[in-house]
Amino acid sequence: MKRLYRSRPVFDTLSRTSKDKMKVSVELVRRGATMLAEPCQQCGGIQVRYRGKTYCTNHEDLSPLLAAATVSYESVVANMREQLLTKLSESIALLEKEKDPAKQDQIVSVMAKYFDLLQKAAAKTKG
Ligand SMILES: [Zn+2]
Repeated sequence: MKRLYRSRPVFDTLSRTSKDKMKVSVELVRRGATMLAEPCQQCGGIQVRYRGKTYCTNHEDLSPLLAAATVSYESVVANMREQLLTKLSESIALLEKEKDPAKQDQIVSVMAKYFDLLQKAAAKTKG
């Protein structure tokens, strides 16, 4: 038997809980989590990718992620690098499909910024 939820009074905590979940999701995104286009296979909720892992903002309790997040220079840089790499690869995919030269120019200029930051981040970690 699978126990997904700890028993608790549902009715008085429900609205507060969903508000909290939203707050946590927003905070995670602010800290570099990416919203995924693909919904959760279990509940159809919005999924986020954070520090290399995928989480469901609906059925998973994400607040420990925020509590556990220690802000150190290394973790921020590592997180930034991961984000930049993800964005770069997304941009490459966009660029492949884009036919409009003006939009291509836009994508390339954004990619140049990502790449520039990435190189700075790499230089810093070599320390
Ligand atoms: Zn879910």
